[in-house]
Amino acid sequence: MAGRALARDAHTRVTQYIRLETQYSVMSRIDSDDEGTGSAPEYEHVDVSVLVIGAGAAGARTAIELAERGVDDVLVLGKRSHGDAHTTWARGGINGALGTRDPEDDWTIHAADTLNEGHFLNDPAKVEAVTRQMPERLRELDDWGMAYSRTDDGDIDQRYFGAQSFRRTAFAGDHTGESMLQALVERAQTLEVPYRENVMITKLLSDGTRVHGAVGFDTDAGEFVVFNAGTVVLAAGGYAAIYDRHTSRDDENNGDGPALAFDAGAALMDMEFVQFHPTGMAVDESDPEWAPWSGRLVTEAVRGEGGRLFNADSERFMERYSPDQMELDARDVVARAIAKEVAEGRGTDRGGVYLDISHRDRAFIEERLPRMYERFMDLGVDMATDSVEVAPTAHYGMGGVAVDDHGETSVEGLFAIGETMAGVHGANRLGGNSLAETVAFGVIAGERIADRVTGPGSIPDSVRDDVVLPHLDELAAMADHDGSHDVREVFEALQSLMWRHAGILRDEDTLEAGLEELARLRTRAADMTAGPMTSESYELAVDVGFMLTSAEAVLRGALERTESRGAHHRTDHPTTDADWQRNIHFEKVDIGAMTASTHPVGTPSPTVQQALDDDHELDYHQLE
Ligand SMILES: Cc1cc2nc3c(=O)[nH]c(=O)nc-3n(C[C@H](O)[C@H](O)[C@H](O)COP(=O)(O)OP(=O)(O)OC[C@H]3O[C@@H](n4cnc5c(N)ncnc54)[C@H](O)[C@@H]3O)c2cc1C
Repeated sequence: MAGRALARDAHTRVTQYIRLETQYSVMSRIDSDDEGTGSAPEYEHVDVSVLVIGAGAAGARTAIELAERGVDDVLVLGKRSHGDAHTTWARGGINGALGTRDPEDDWTIHAADTLNEGHFLNDPAKVEAVTRQMPERLRELDDWGMAYSRTDDGDIDQRYFGAQSFRRTAFAGDHTGESMLQALVERAQTLEVPYRENVMITKLLSDGTRVHGAVGFDTDAGEFVVFNAGTVVLAAGGYAAIYDRHTSRDDENNGDGPALAFDAGAALMDMEFVQFHPTGMAVDESDPEWAPWSGRLVTEAVRGEGGRLFNADSERFMERYSPDQMELDARDVVARAIAKEVAEGRGTDRGGVYLDISHRDRAFIEERLPRMYERFMDLGVDMATDSVEVAPTAHYGMGGVAVDDHGETSVEGLFAIGETMAGVHGANRLGGNSLAETVAFGVIAGERIADRVTGPGSIPDSVRDDVVLPHLDELAAMADHDGSHDVREVFEALQSLMWRHAGILRDEDTLEAGLEELARLRTRAADMTAGPMTSESYELAVDVGFMLTSAEAVLRGALERTESRGAHHRTDHPTTDADWQRNIHFEKVDIGAMTASTHPVGTPSPTVQQALDDDHELDYHQLE
């Protein structure tokens, strides 16, 4: 799989927040052994009213909202250096009904498209809250310096994206996420938002009903940190990287956010819905030059510009699955078609198919697909004469933490937003909507918190004794443990398990076998050699813990949902069942146990229902 070298090399030009350590209410080192037991590890103690875990678009926008509303006792942290969040990898665009190109567009049609693509499993209230405010959010990013691509008149340009009725995807060339995060970070700098980088959170402090802060470690210094915080915002990204072939960086989107929230007592929702992008790079993983590119996106623009898919028997197989839309059909349809070809023995040796655009002129390819052309040329493949090998790749987890209309979980004071939360995308995400969700819910959560913030509070003695100290002991023991298993081996075994047992085509037997294999993997994970706290393998070992929780929720949700809907396809239940228009929640009832419940979906407002009834025509070009 792609290693960290690629992730770190992909570091961006985004500048950093201003470092303002004096903003912390207390910044001191105390010995946790102040009661004289003689064995507890030392930790740094930080008091802060609002702790924002995650410095991608969602975390940054929350912090900006808080600062603008006068809440300055805030700390934003990330496990990487600031500006280096996964958001920078978003390329294609961000949705909002500005109507630059299509004045007849409005937010209600954006909401209707989102519900349609989500197969009506989305929470309509959240969809409406996002789509209604997006025009304002896009303009505000413009004011803060986002380098949008523009029309000849200088307006924010907008283009088609998959399954949208109108051109409503704003973009900054093919570096939308990078430009967006740069604008947000600069805004946060102006507002002097305090940040801390290279801190990995390993546990939230909760008594099951209220949050009290978080515990983590400084990955550079190798020291424990305990944050005492009255409010915690989890904006820690998603879980698509729990799959073997995925479009995320290997050390991001490992399910940290959902796992941390679940452990603290919050519910997970819709975890079974994982969006598989049809065209990721299928490579020879034993070749060091190609290996880092495994699963990386081959943009849908290749198909948008006329690229054709062929199986190993040289058949243009989309004729069998979608004779009208062919390669331009929706993501889940094309991904499923490729998976079926491979499952039925018509795939390549690497489990993929061929994508070919060599019928186009070289000049056309160079002009319209410059980055793809260059990437493959650097690897020795000329797209103007040869096809490239592609296979579906895990791209986005629609599920996440269940939250109310303000982004708050069932644990008081704990918010979850951005890719960590569930509810906006339902059974399938509309391309361009996840960046929208990050800033929209950043504002919603920020507003709510600003109304209620009362200070850091204090960590109750019971939480300190029953949660903080045992957890620090566990973390210390993990560093010292001389185990029988290599961390990366377990990490990759888990990703492989998810690909084989909870991939695009699922059935009861495979999912049950996956849960059994997961239980065996848990035993191996408890006996790993993690190495010192500053090592890459230690961080990976913590990730394995998060991945185990997120993986179990995906497998259990997929087993529970005995129908096919959107990105979730059960070969033993191939049709959509109206009775299953319900969200599956998982909660921790006993230690370690995952308990399922199902909940009906809300109804759209009359104005959005009207937009749904109007049944606008959709365009199928997808460019993310
Ligand atoms: C290749 C690719 C292309 C995409 N293109 C688009 C697109 O064109 N349009 C679109 O709308 N969406 C796109 N997406 C999705 C979109 O980029 C993400 O959903 C969005 O950026 C998530 O933002 P976020 O702020 O929620 O999380 P992230 O940007 O992932 O930030 C998470 C933050 O949490 C921190 N963190 C994580 N775990 C911990 C921990 N344990 N302790 C401390 N800190 C932690 C990280 O360091 C980081 O700062 C794309 C995704 C991929 C993979």
